[in-house]
Amino acid sequence: MTEKPILPGSVVGCLGGGQLGRMFALAARRMGYRVHTFDPMPDSPTGQISDREYNASFDDIETLLDFASGVDVVTYEFENIPVRALDALSPHAILRPGRNVLYVAQNRRREKEFLQTNGFPVVPFRIVASEDELRQAVLDLGCPCVLKTADFGYDGKGQQKIGYDSDLTVIWRRHGAPTGVVEAWVPFAAELSVVVARGVLMNEDEQNFMQVFPPTVNEHENHILATSVAPAPLADSIILRAQTIASDIAVKLDVIGLLAVEFFLTSRGHLLVNELAPRPHNSGHYSFDACATSQFEQQLRAVCGLPLGDPRLLSPVVMRNLLGDLWANGEPDWSSLLELPGLRLHLYGKSEARPGRKMGHYCVLNPSLDRAREIDAEAQKILGR
Ligand code: AMP
Repeated sequence: MTEKPILPGSVVGCLGGGQLGRMFALAARRMGYRVHTFDPMPDSPTGQISDREYNASFDDIETLLDFASGVDVVTYEFENIPVRALDALSPHAILRPGRNVLYVAQNRRREKEFLQTNGFPVVPFRIVASEDELRQAVLDLGCPCVLKTADFGYDGKGQQKIGYDSDLTVIWRRHGAPTGVVEAWVPFAAELSVVVARGVLMNEDEQNFMQVFPPTVNEHENHILATSVAPAPLADSIILRAQTIASDIAVKLDVIGLLAVEFFLTSRGHLLVNELAPRPHNSGHYSFDACATSQFEQQLRAVCGLPLGDPRLLSPVVMRNLLGDLWANGEPDWSSLLELPGLRLHLYGKSEARPGRKMGHYCVLNPSLDRAREIDAEAQKILGR
């Protein structure tokens, strides 16, 4: 037993200053930690509740090392951090999850090849580096399929759906990157995700070294997550299988921290991994209000080498994202919204509301998931949806 836990009073560093970091910082502050944030933009959602905010580009290695020298452990809330920055940081800081986890998860090609090589179920795919290879991939996979960028893609950005009548010359030109990933289009019955937490093994008989959150069933609008519900209205066998696959991936990747795994469930009941994220996940926001331990507290416990908490679901819940579109006619009517029973509002402190930008979310808790859905529908009416 060589590792020592990083105890309350220590400083945790967060790369990225978005809403995921903000909720992590809230959990950390509550438990008596100090928080330093690194984000290119000042007054970031995480920075607003941090002790210190460093504003510089992720290419600014000098500032990055300065940030690292002032913290006891570094974690992150988004994965698009340049590898160069991670390589510079790793010798000088405890980075959790580690550099290699991020290296795999930040690139769709590496992620898919890792999953395939290790026998995890993935959506059929091809890597392409030219228009000719794209043509061959479309022939192999059939239509519809989708061409995605390998790097820096999220919320459907950098994706082009391909049908029988698509002009592949135009699609390849528009793609504009040297390589891409073509995926078969999955006519899924549902999308679900699972967040796993994996800590630091302090002694061999430790019980709480890994914990898996209850899966959520997710619905997207325009490629952006709209709602997540828990408990997932799915067969127990599917839930268990999703949790097992997610845990096995976390072990294989040697994650210390969180790993979110997104799945497609096919109409035949098969699970296919869509994406990995080694950080808190939007679909796990429900845990802040509805679980005995939230994904954010769990991230803190895991990266600090503390025993993990109980991720048990305490109440059925519907989580809904609030996008910037809702601000088109000014500030939404929060007072009416907050009259609804069991509704918990989270706003991220972003000053500019752009269409598609995640500004906040709410969770509706109710002993009945059906009733929670009804209250969510009432909330949508109040918001003019
Ligand atoms: P991604 O950014 O790859 O997670 O894609 C965002 C969303 O687009 C997913 O959550 C799905 O709703 C949809 N999508 C992406 N890829 C596929 C696919 N191969 N088959 C069906 N739907 C997809």
